[in-house]
Amino acid sequence: MDRFDDIHSEPGATAIRRDANLRTTFDAAGQRKDILLEGKVISMSAEGSIDCATTTFTHSHHCGHLATEPIGHICAEEGCARISCKVCSANARCARCFKPLCLEHVQQLVTPKVTTNLCEGCKAAVIRKQRWTALLRFVCEPFIDFDSPQAP
Ligand SMILES: [Zn+2]
Ligand SMILES: [Zn+2]
Ligand SMILES: [Zn+2]
Repeated sequence: MDRFDDIHSEPGATAIRRDANLRTTFDAAGQRKDILLEGKVISMSAEGSIDCATTTFTHSHHCGHLATEPIGHICAEEGCARISCKVCSANARCARCFKPLCLEHVQQLVTPKVTTNLCEGCKAAVIRKQRWTALLRFVCEPFIDFDSPQAP
């Protein structure tokens, strides 16, 4: 693929020089992806003038903020690898295992006291633990005030 294909040039003009400003990212499978952020073409027009045109492409990070915003982190959930901007990344990290997450993978655990951001695995583990604790309490409570322990 010619990465210069997307750079605008006038019909009938002959390109003398083409500059491309690319950002290269890798998806979860390690597949390389080049994103053209800006392209510049210096060309000779049909009338013989030397023209220069710069095209800026509008891309956004996965969080929806423009790709010209600084990059934050890359989501570490399996098969994701989405990139968020710095501001969004600051709030998208698992509070338990510190895994960086995208806005889609950040799981909020809401308790009456606090709201915690967790990854999918940690949220499941925390909920499992909560259920287990609740179940243990339910099973054990009737015996708490029961003086004689049961014979084996
Ligand atoms: Zn953002
Ligand atoms: Zn986690
Ligand atoms: Zn993600």
